Amino acid sequence: MTTQFIEKIDSLKSKVRGKTVPPDHPSYDEVRKIWNAMIDRRPAVIVQCADAGDVREALTFARENGLEISIRGAGHNIAGNAVCDGGMMIDLSTMKNVRVDAEKRRAYVEPGATLRDFDEAAQVHGLATPVGINSTTGIAGLTLGGGFGWLTRKYGMTIDNLVAVDVITANGENLRVSENENADLFWAIRGGGGNFGIVTLFEFRLHPVGPDILAGLIVFPLKQAKQVLTSYREFVKTAPEELNVWVVLRQAPPLPFLPEDVHGKEVVVLPIFYAGDPAQGQKLIEPLRSFGEAHGEHIGVQPYVQWQQAFDPLLTPGARNYWKSHNFTELSDGVLDSMIEFAGKLPTPQCEIFIGLIAGAANRLPADATAYGHRDAKFVLNVHGRWDTATDDEKGVAWAREFFKTSAPYASGGAYINFMTEDEGDRIAAAYGANYERLAQIKKKYDPENVFHLNQNIKAK
Ligand SMILES: Cc1cc2nc3c(=O)[nH]c(=O)nc-3n(C[C@H](O)[C@H](O)[C@H](O)COP(=O)(O)OP(=O)(O)OC[C@H]3O[C@@H](n4cnc5c(N)ncnc54)[C@H](O)[C@@H]3O)c2cc1C
Repeated sequence: MTTQFIEKIDSLKSKVRGKTVPPDHPSYDEVRKIWNAMIDRRPAVIVQCADAGDVREALTFARENGLEISIRGAGHNIAGNAVCDGGMMIDLSTMKNVRVDAEKRRAYVEPGATLRDFDEAAQVHGLATPVGINSTTGIAGLTLGGGFGWLTRKYGMTIDNLVAVDVITANGENLRVSENENADLFWAIRGGGGNFGIVTLFEFRLHPVGPDILAGLIVFPLKQAKQVLTSYREFVKTAPEELNVWVVLRQAPPLPFLPEDVHGKEVVVLPIFYAGDPAQGQKLIEPLRSFGEAHGEHIGVQPYVQWQQAFDPLLTPGARNYWKSHNFTELSDGVLDSMIEFAGKLPTPQCEIFIGLIAGAANRLPADATAYGHRDAKFVLNVHGRWDTATDDEKGVAWAREFFKTSAPYASGGAYINFMTEDEGDRIAAAYGANYERLAQIKKKYDPENVFHLNQNIKAK
C-alpha cells in the first residue's frame, strides 16, 4: 500500500463508526473469510459498517478512489462475490439488528442479520416468514435472490413477504423502496440480487408459526430409492401446503437414531416439516413410512427455531463447496434415475443431491410479478459438492457437472441465482428469462456504470 493510500484509509477511519480493516489489521484474515473455502480473495480494505451512514461513506470512498466494490451480508453465497481482490469489501455482517412489531406483524431487519437472528427475534412473538434451511445464511443475499424454505409452500418465497427496503444507490442516494415508492426498483430487487444498490434495511410481513412444529427425518436405504422417490412424487401432488417434505440423497451422517452400520452408507432422507396442529401432522405423514423399509426415523414436536438449525452441523463454514442446480415443474423418471445413479457414486462423503419442494403459494404469482420469475418451479434440485481439501476439487467438480448435464433434459430450464457458482455467468440471462430485459433497463436507471457488478451481474441496456 502506498503512503498516500494509507493516509486516505486513515481519513476514512475517522468518518465511519464501524471498523476499517486494511490488510495489516490483526483481524483481516478472519474478516475476509467467507462460507465457501474455495474462495480466497484479498480486498485492499474492508469496512465493517455500523449503520447506513457508514455504508454511504464506504461507497463514496470506494468510488472516489476507483476501488472495485463487493458487498457482504453473511458471506454464504457459493459464488463468493461477497469478497473481492484489491478493492473494497463493504461488510454488513456487523449490522444485525432485528426489530419486530408483533401487533403489525412486521420485522425490520438489518442486512447483516442471519436467518437465526431473524427467526429467533420473530419467534419470541410466535411469528415467522419463509427463509432458508441453514440458520447461518444471511437474510440479505437470500432475500435479494428470492429465498425459499420450509414455509414457502404455504407463504411463498421470502420476497413475496417483503414489504419495503431502504437502499443506497450507486450515486449515494438513500431511497425508500416499496410497491408505492420507487416501484420499479422494488420489482427489481425482489430477485435481482445485489445489482441495484446496497440494502440497509428490510421490512418483512410475518405470519403466526409455532413456536412448536412437527418435524424430523425418515431415512431409507439407497437401494429402495426408486420406490421411495416415485411414492414421494405421488404423495406431494396432494399434500397440503402446511406440509413440506424434501429429499436428500447422501451418505448417512452418524445420527444417534440410525444403527451404527448404516453410518456412512448411501441413503435417501426425507426431511419433514408440518406447520399446523402436530396431531394432524402425524396423520398426514403416516403414508411416508410405507415408502420403503426405513433404517430409522426421528420425528417429533420441537421449537421452530430448533428445526431451523437442524442442518447446521452438516453445513458448517470452512469446507470447499461446488454447486449445480436446476428447477423442475415435475419429477420425471429420467431425473429420478439420474439422481439415484449419481448418489451411487458420490465422490466424497459430504456430497449430496437434494430436492427442495416449493410447490404452492409461490406458484400463484405471475412470472413477471417480481424479478425472480420461476413461478412454475415446483422443485429446486441442488447438487451439493462438498469436501475439505483442494486435492478433491477435480473429482468433486467433475461429478457435480456430470450430474448437472445428465439431469438437464428433465429440468424446466430456469435457474435459482442464489445457487449459482462463479463460473455460471452464462446462465444469468436464462435465469431471469423474459424478465431480463426489464431488469437491464432498471439497471441502466439506477446503476448505469455497473458499480455493483460483483454479483450475478445484469448488464444495463
Ligand atoms: C449452506 C447453505 C444453505 C442454503 N440454503 C438456502 C435455502 O434453504 N434457501 C435459499 O433460498 N437459499 C439458500 N442458500 C443460498 C443463499 O440464499 C445464498 O447463498 C445467499 O446469497 C446468502 O446470502 P448472504 O447474505 O449470506 O450472502 P453473501 O455472500 O454475503 O451475499 C451474496 C451477495 O448478495 C449481495 N448482497 C448481500 N447483501 C446485500 C445488501 N445488503 N445489499 C445489496 N446486495 C447485497 C451481494 O451481491 C453479495 O455478493 C443457502 C446457502 C448456503 C451456503
